[in-house]
Amino acid sequence: MLLNATHDPALRSWVQSAQNPGCDFPIQNLPHGVFRRRGQDERFRGGVAIGSQILDLAAASETGAFSPALAAVMQAAQAPTLNGLMAMGPPAWRQLRGELSRVLRAGAAEQGQLASCLVAQADAEFALPASVGDYTDFFTSWHHMLNAGRIFQPDAPPLPNFRWLPIAYHGRSSTVDVSGAPVGRPHGQTRLPGNSAPSFGPTQRLDYEFELAAWIGPGNARGSRIAVDEAEAHVFGFSILNDWSARDVQAWEAMPLGPFLAKNFLTSVSPWIVTLEALAPYRCPLPRTADDPPTLPHLQSTQPAELQGLDIQLQASLLTARGGAEEFPLSRSSFGHCYWSVAQMVAHHTEGGCALRPGDLLGTGTQSGPGDSELGCLLELTRGGQRPVLLANGEQRLYLEDGDTVCLRAWCERSGSARIGFGDCRGTVISGG
Ligand code: CA
Repeated sequence: MLLNATHDPALRSWVQSAQNPGCDFPIQNLPHGVFRRRGQDERFRGGVAIGSQILDLAAASETGAFSPALAAVMQAAQAPTLNGLMAMGPPAWRQLRGELSRVLRAGAAEQGQLASCLVAQADAEFALPASVGDYTDFFTSWHHMLNAGRIFQPDAPPLPNFRWLPIAYHGRSSTVDVSGAPVGRPHGQTRLPGNSAPSFGPTQRLDYEFELAAWIGPGNARGSRIAVDEAEAHVFGFSILNDWSARDVQAWEAMPLGPFLAKNFLTSVSPWIVTLEALAPYRCPLPRTADDPPTLPHLQSTQPAELQGLDIQLQASLLTARGGAEEFPLSRSSFGHCYWSVAQMVAHHTEGGCALRPGDLLGTGTQSGPGDSELGCLLELTRGGQRPVLLANGEQRLYLEDGDTVCLRAWCERSGSARIGFGDCRGTVISGG
């Protein structure tokens, strides 16, 4: 029911690089982003990734290649922010995806018109794909909760509310930026163990957090709720998100109200938004066992259980100043371990009447799996800074050093479906001001 002709793994594009093995952007993907040619004094506009290229939707809409019935949605998809496209909802998104799939298909009559509307991704720079009004960060990985709990509050039992509701806090939208933004080492108050007074200075425990970003589509009126079964119609798609964290600041400030300055100096997102429709072949069950409490009715989806989760592969690696271009693997996991679905996050977010708006950003929370190689941040990988991560060139890390680059990648692959990817989300640490 969720699959249609745009997911057909046999589809090929006239953009040859879309067929390259391991390519993140085959014709079955078609993610949206906002770009311009690097170094050019031109405006940012919407585009769609295909192979190693971007289809410039502003240029493409002038060729007459697209059906006139799509004029409004094409207008929204080529804008410098995609909030208008996000507001239009699934019927418009589906129509646009169908048309993009048609004109980019091998043998399409539109090839001649559209070939000149391609820009190489290597020659592009990206902007945030939407103007982010509000940013909310969830805490939905059972394994991350257990691991972080053992480090920050070793004597406390697992959080009693975790399996009843998707825990979250309100983040800061002013410091959400696109992949590539420099990560200035933040200053803050920290208190070393054994000291009674804190001191102020650059964080000594700078960390990353591997999350996914869900981009909100149509919003809801204040005072109304989004039912869990309606919630997916309010989700435009997903990017990779890095919720950079200063652990020493966090440990000192977070009780009782939660993270504040430890998280709000930068949140990075990857430039491409993979639509929920593109992810249809990669549904999976949510991880539930007989020990889990029953989900309360207002968070209980009537969707078949095997379709409620998303099996998205997550891979983190580190590049260092000394290691050059070499990528040192840090972890490899799947979003399929996430305890709560994005539909449940949206339903929970609005159950008291809070309004979501198009372009709002939901971070899923750090995603960790059960294994030692599936941990989504250095806090977990180093057991709270106790056990260094060893890199293949002999370097080791407890936390990030100046000059380090964190690279987060995500993709989906499954037998019988085309592999699709998210690209990457990167940031390089520089000394703070
Ligand atoms: Ca987080």
